[in-house]
Amino acid sequence: MNNPNDQIKKIVILGGGSAGWMTAAMLAKQLEQSCTITLVESNQIKTVGVGEATIPPIQNFNRILGITETEFLSACNGTIKLGIQFENWKQKQHTYMHPFGRFGADFDYMSFPYFWMKQQLTGAQQPLQEFSLAWHLSQSNKFITPSSDPTSLASNFDYAYHFDAGLYADFLRTYAEKLGVVRIEGKVANVFNHPDNGFISGLQLEDNQEIKGDLFIDCSGQRSVLMRQNLNVPFHSWSHLLFNDSAIAVQSTHTKMLQPYTRSIAHDSGWQWRIPLQTRMGNGNVFSSQFMTDEQGLDCLLNSVDGKVLTEPNKIKFETGRLNSFWDKNCVAIGLSAGFLEPLESTGLHLIQSAIMRLIRLMPNKDCDQLSQSLYNKETELEYQHIKDFIILHYKATERDDSEYWQHCKGLEIPDSLKQQIELFKQFGHLDVHEKDLFKQDNWLAVLTGQGIMPAKIAPIVTHKNNLDIEKTFDVMQKQFQQITMNATSHEMYLAKHCPYRPKR
Ligand SMILES: Cc1cc2nc3c(=O)[nH]c(=O)nc-3n(C[C@H](O)[C@H](O)[C@H](O)COP(=O)(O)OP(=O)(O)OC[C@H]3O[C@@H](n4cnc5c(N)ncnc54)[C@H](O)[C@@H]3O)c2cc1C
Repeated sequence: MNNPNDQIKKIVILGGGSAGWMTAAMLAKQLEQSCTITLVESNQIKTVGVGEATIPPIQNFNRILGITETEFLSACNGTIKLGIQFENWKQKQHTYMHPFGRFGADFDYMSFPYFWMKQQLTGAQQPLQEFSLAWHLSQSNKFITPSSDPTSLASNFDYAYHFDAGLYADFLRTYAEKLGVVRIEGKVANVFNHPDNGFISGLQLEDNQEIKGDLFIDCSGQRSVLMRQNLNVPFHSWSHLLFNDSAIAVQSTHTKMLQPYTRSIAHDSGWQWRIPLQTRMGNGNVFSSQFMTDEQGLDCLLNSVDGKVLTEPNKIKFETGRLNSFWDKNCVAIGLSAGFLEPLESTGLHLIQSAIMRLIRLMPNKDCDQLSQSLYNKETELEYQHIKDFIILHYKATERDDSEYWQHCKGLEIPDSLKQQIELFKQFGHLDVHEKDLFKQDNWLAVLTGQGIMPAKIAPIVTHKNNLDIEKTFDVMQKQFQQITMNATSHEMYLAKHCPYRPKR
């Protein structure tokens, strides 16, 4: 029998960035006032101020919180995201998209991409992205919500959002406070630990106030005040694999129609993002200090920004990697305090979301048992490893060698897991993907084929399939994609309809 005295009664969250408020909101919703939740944040320490492009599971996070799309888009200056357009990654002047959702539709009980690969290997030219409805819609600046009819091609795509991370944190703060979360303003000056087991017992603020708790969640960003500074959990660096270590972000005015996708534009020493919000554009440059100084990085960004720059440059330094354990004693790290992977596939907020849901599933008693802790750490570690491999793929699968930076990428020794994935794909087009993986077959295919990697041979199971029959099926699909796109509304119209309180440009 469960003993109520064993149960966690007080949760303390340190940090009020996206990680802190996402955690506070979801815990308050799911724990239904079975314990108190206190969030400590300091106005003296700014949040990282970026993190505006997401991936489709964010819809689920909002759905669980009971937040409607209209409320969310209106409050957070949000727009629709149908994928990421990668420019200059395979070669200069080359563009491909990693769209959200599936490619084509399966037929003859076979996965669609095998038929597409067969056609390509027998001379067809049509890029894979042209079999994605998300791609068709994005190229026309249009949007519809996916159909709930599983037999329709219009059910086969997905979407996410771009939004203002600061507004999202404010929105979730209001939500969490309504559910009883108590916010305390103050800077942590000291952390107390139990002398017998090293568990954290309380946080002392600069004004000497002490905040006691049973479970502590470290959302203190790169400072990692509890996990790295207090509990001395080591950091495992991946900077030898992903060597970018700098970013600069600025906001600017819009000059064009709102595009429903993120742009990732590679340059000689890194890449830039363009994230369109309703009232402004988010721009950033991600680069390596080995190949570009901060001054050059800023020039590179400012010289390519369309529109008027609205903000001072936000310069951020980072190291790619993650903690050796994400849960130690009675403390769990969520957000930048747990690790960092560059935002090439917009996975930062997703890592927060999945950490929160994992913690809720494995919520311990006060003793923070080893078995739950080990499972939590194992699952989180696998998630980081998987995303890391997927990001490295973009740097490895390139034909670019036109600068020292890209030559360095070419020479990188990549993890065995990624090597095996690429080799497996190069043989017959198979991929090793698992149910819990964030990136599935179609995600890998988008990047592999988008950057020019193709299998050497047709998968034996489709060799005997008739090419003319395949072509006919492809033609029917293309006509349907075109028809659905023609009937869709423009992205701007969709926002106007769904954001009655839409901020003015
Ligand atoms: C360049 C860059 C681009 C990114 N782009 C994306 C993207 O497009 N999509 C995406 O999903 N993710 C992105 N991310 C990741 C995303 O920004 C973060 O995952 C997210 O913002 C979470 O940050 P955080 O809350 O962990 O930390 P922060 O925002 O840094 O918040 C830390 C909080 O801790 C508090 N704090 C710290 N120390 C103390 C103390 N001693 N006492 C009291 N309070 C304290 C601070 O006041 C603050 O409230 C990006 C990250 C970077 C660096």
